[in-house]
Amino acid sequence: MDALFDVAVIGAGPGGYVAAIRCAQLGLRTVCIEKEPALGGTCLRVGCIPSKALLESSERYVEARKHLAEHGVQVQGVSLDLERLLERKDKIVKGLTDGVAHLLKKNGVERLEGHGCLLPRAEDGHRIEVRGSDSAQVITATNVIIATGSKVADLAGVERCGDRIGGSTEALAYDAVPERLVVIGAGVIGLELGSVWARLGSNVTVLEYSERCLPMMDAAIGKRAAKIFKRQGLTLKFGVRVTGARVDGDHCVVEAEGQEPISCDRVLVAVGRAPYTEGLGLDQVGIETDERGRIPVDAHLETSIPGVFAIGDVVQGAMLAHKAEEEGVAVAERIGTGWGHVNYDAIPNVIYTDPEIATVGKTAEELEAAGVPFKEGSFPFMANGRARALGQTEGFVKILAHGETDRVLGVHMIGPRVGELIVEASMAMSFGASSEDIARVCHAHPTLHEVVKEAALAVDGRALHM
Ligand code: FAD
Ligand code: NAD
Repeated sequence: MDALFDVAVIGAGPGGYVAAIRCAQLGLRTVCIEKEPALGGTCLRVGCIPSKALLESSERYVEARKHLAEHGVQVQGVSLDLERLLERKDKIVKGLTDGVAHLLKKNGVERLEGHGCLLPRAEDGHRIEVRGSDSAQVITATNVIIATGSKVADLAGVERCGDRIGGSTEALAYDAVPERLVVIGAGVIGLELGSVWARLGSNVTVLEYSERCLPMMDAAIGKRAAKIFKRQGLTLKFGVRVTGARVDGDHCVVEAEGQEPISCDRVLVAVGRAPYTEGLGLDQVGIETDERGRIPVDAHLETSIPGVFAIGDVVQGAMLAHKAEEEGVAVAERIGTGWGHVNYDAIPNVIYTDPEIATVGKTAEELEAAGVPFKEGSFPFMANGRARALGQTEGFVKILAHGETDRVLGVHMIGPRVGELIVEASMAMSFGASSEDIARVCHAHPTLHEVVKEAALAVDGRALHM
């Protein structure tokens, strides 16, 4: 491989591989360096995709056991084949990670397997040492995009040790349904993977430091979600700060302030993720991380070193695959064309529980804190024909619009398939729509999207079906 590139991307997660493809599309000679044999990063290997595969399978299991009878479909002898369920997940992951390798090749991105480490800059460009399992080489590139992602955040006093006390990666592959699972953190991972194992038969207790689940989301959503998940059998304990967890013989013990120690079979630590910059050589090139270990970047995602950019989980902002992708495209376009932009106000956030939770934009609490005048309209799925036909009437859509201009500032949903519905809200916000604009769009009937329209009408106090 000739070692002089226009762009070297370190990391092949959704940020890195998408950036590499876009660079290549723009005619830039691009190399993508990834330390793992499989491409796709956390998202494809041990994140978004395997978790969604498990959520889907476990939902089908519950459906077959508990809900098909409501439709007049009688099934007997429903049982769980966990090995098959996990194999299905692994097959989906393999298909998609292989697909990324194919995409890079098809677009002419050169791929290097090994750990990338930044070296002091040379005259002709930035230098990166790539250490493979049995060899090392140095490449030079005019621009570098760091997309090294994140890892499970540790919690003081909790020693992770394989799958007995582990993080999300272990919880995606338990070889048996734990009788008693304690989840630390009622955030996104805690609720998604807690739901998976609870559906498969585990007795799940979720311990959360805040007074409600999903503390970063709109309060009304967090409250409704807690009610629903409790009804589904999850034990949720709020205001509980976990201080330790240890293996004790054949079980684990979790300790929390003001609580009796809790005995269980496995512990899932889900208290957030931390940027991953180990062995990246940041000190060798003079890049200092911030107080949370993130790489500081400017509005164009450029680090303190000209020509070195950083994107995705390793920089500030939401730790989401599509946010990383948007940043990857923006940086590639900045390098290739001089322009590149991410609209951070319209990045959706979806939690794939049952029902799903989806939000975009500001919460009511954020608007109140910022002193922004706003109006609010909500509408329940209970009053929607399609939701009733589906038998999934739990939840609502809430739209927050500016008090004077009516511009939509935030949309918050909990209910059936809202992970898909939220795109309507992101789209509207991307075009600077008002709630009146959404309300005037003809929505097909009967669809779940009609709830979005009704919520928009409700902003002005004129919902039609309530
Ligand atoms: P990553 O995907 O972490 O990729 C970074 C890559 O860089 C890795 O492949 C790593 O091996 C490689 N790397 C690191 N250092 C080096 C180095 N020095 N040299 C070479 N290679 C290196 N987000 C969503 O939007 N939707 C979801 O449904 C969702 N579900 C999730 C479920 C779970 C269980 C988890 C853990 C996360 C989930 N996320 C989800 C978050 C999502 O996975 C991340 O936001 C996303 O993967 C970040 O992309 P990235 O490209 O920044 O980093
Ligand atoms: P999170 O930030 O969503 O939730 C962590 C939770 O742990 C918080 O509610 C926090 O209050 C709690 N907590 C912290 N310390 C605690 C303690 N000592 N005791 C009890 N509770 C404590 O983090 P996560 O669930 O680990 O997810 C990490 C990241 O991965 C998220 O930022 C998310 O963006 C991403 N992710 C996204 C999806 C998705 O988009 N569907 C799915 C999974 C993960």
